[in-house]
Amino acid sequence: MPDFDLSRLVRPNVARMAPYSSARSEFAKAEGDGAAEVMLDANENPFDTGYNRYPDPLQHALKQRIVTTRALPHLSAANLFLGNGSDEAIDLLLRAFCEPGRGAIVIQPPTYGMYEVSANLQDAPIVRVPLGADLQPDYAALRAAAGPDTRLVFFCSPNNPTGGLLEPEAIAAFARSYHGLVIVDEAYIDFALVVRPEASLLPRLHELPNVVVLQTFSKALGQAGIRMGMAWASPAVIAVLNKIKPPYNLSQVAQQAALNALDYSELTTQLVRILVAQREALRLTLSELPYVEHVFPSDANFLLVRFDDAAAVFAHLKAQGIVVRDRSKQPACAGCLRLTVGTPEENARLIAALAEFTPGA
Ligand SMILES: *Cc1c(COP(=O)(O)O)cnc(C)c1O
Repeated sequence: MPDFDLSRLVRPNVARMAPYSSARSEFAKAEGDGAAEVMLDANENPFDTGYNRYPDPLQHALKQRIVTTRALPHLSAANLFLGNGSDEAIDLLLRAFCEPGRGAIVIQPPTYGMYEVSANLQDAPIVRVPLGADLQPDYAALRAAAGPDTRLVFFCSPNNPTGGLLEPEAIAAFARSYHGLVIVDEAYIDFALVVRPEASLLPRLHELPNVVVLQTFSKALGQAGIRMGMAWASPAVIAVLNKIKPPYNLSQVAQQAALNALDYSELTTQLVRILVAQREALRLTLSELPYVEHVFPSDANFLLVRFDDAAAVFAHLKAQGIVVRDRSKQPACAGCLRLTVGTPEENARLIAALAEFTPGA
């Protein structure tokens, strides 16, 4: 397998193209020449509404704040891309590295659906290497499948919808032997970190030039509504994403809301601990129900549960006003519903509703 060489991985048209140069980014370049007092460069409305100016295209203040909060000695704002949800980062990775019709991605079903959607939009081939029996990656099969025509290999850890953490050491070992990019989607990592501090690949990212770690404000941080995703990688990979992103991809409102959320990191950690404790209580209760076949071990804020008759349970819960996610059509997930851990009150309602369920009724 040839060594990782980013310049050979980027799509030629992306390497060639000149990015859109926004008024605000040209302004930032010129700022050293003297402070701007009168901004007549961006056709904005000059009257102050609070939002009349375009936002910072590279979100410097927010990135600096995130980096400070993460407190990882080897990472700086140059290692961070911010997107309109991590879904935007997934989409841009596909566009930057996969040419339509060639440049495949490798996914490990059952897993998050957006990798496949973004690949289909880009018309990139998809190679599927199912997770192994223990729901860990099947590395022998991955190495066999990750040939020269593949560009991106996706790992989701903890995995959605199964919930389990993938061993970070094994992912790192795979990345060292792979010529393309390894994308590690850590959307749920904060739920794993309270139990296993070494669960994330972020602390060793500086040793892994071909790894991209995706994280998000949408889950543990409680900010799904603002759309804020993070991609962590080498400055060279981040530069590619910055080159092709829409100039003002994150609104000023979203950037400000994200900064506000980071003021509550301590509260967030407490809430994550509550959710993890709730998850474990829920797991025990569910395991005792006679019509539950299996509760998958989870390192996230949800449980995948196999029922004797998932459709009947789904309909019963729905009739009680409780909506869960039917994952029964996913590979290896026949009969499975995915239950998000709610507030203690919501979980009590779920349990009460399940206690009333009569199989076959
Ligand atoms: C929820 C989720 C995301 C988050 O996507 P955003 O666009 O940041 O909201 C990413 N990956 C996985 C696996 C998820 O489950």
